[in-house]
Amino acid sequence: MKKILIGNWKMNPGSPKSAESIFSEIKKSPGSTDVEVVILPPSIYIPLIKNRGVSIGAQDAYFEKEGAFTGEISMEMVKNMGCRYILIGHSERRLLFKESDKEIRKKIIAACVAGLVPIFCVGENNEQKNDGETGRVIREQLSVLEGLQVEEMIVGYEPVWAIGSGSPCDPEAAFRMRLLIKKIITQIFDRKVAENTKIVYGGSVDLGNCKKYIEEAKFNGLLVGGASLKKEFGKMISEIG
Ligand code: PEP
Repeated sequence: MKKILIGNWKMNPGSPKSAESIFSEIKKSPGSTDVEVVILPPSIYIPLIKNRGVSIGAQDAYFEKEGAFTGEISMEMVKNMGCRYILIGHSERRLLFKESDKEIRKKIIAACVAGLVPIFCVGENNEQKNDGETGRVIREQLSVLEGLQVEEMIVGYEPVWAIGSGSPCDPEAAFRMRLLIKKIITQIFDRKVAENTKIVYGGSVDLGNCKKYIEEAKFNGLLVGGASLKKEFGKMISEIG
């Protein structure tokens, strides 16, 4: 299975010129035939990096097909702009925009109808971790998939406390979470779906630690926030490739 390196630019950078310069740094990387590189730019920059040798996705889209939803974009629009992926359930959307499991489920359904591959994020927060609730939280977040027909999907294990904190999850603990996610996916769907579902790790990944999540924790790839805006993102491609 080809590895996947996903860069989530979040609400950065401030100008198309800066977006171009970040992207040209990535393009300087010799790359790897064994790694699919995915960029999730702010949607307004999607045309800038379209058809330039990497896969693209959007960071969010609404579940309704069209209509009076000022400020929103639809899954179909994302697909028709040349994207293959859509990020769904990111902790910043859950926390800052109060996105519920119900909405997340609707977004996964809408993404699949539009022919997009969901990158579905799950992860516990600090309090839940300290209370020993991690397993329960992950199971509950993944339960939105019950009863759905999902052809292709990526699941991101992103412990909320590790995102942007500089304190990544220990690869051994991440490995156990990967196994748990795989088990839950098998229970919800079947072994075949679980085998085809890529599970990626995200949370303070950098050039120094990226390899551990692939080699030691056996993830299929990485979801990278802050470091995806830096030169090191290009170097990560060969590091994990
Ligand atoms: C993220 O926001 O998905 C993320 C993993 O961020 P960071 O790499 O900055 O922790």
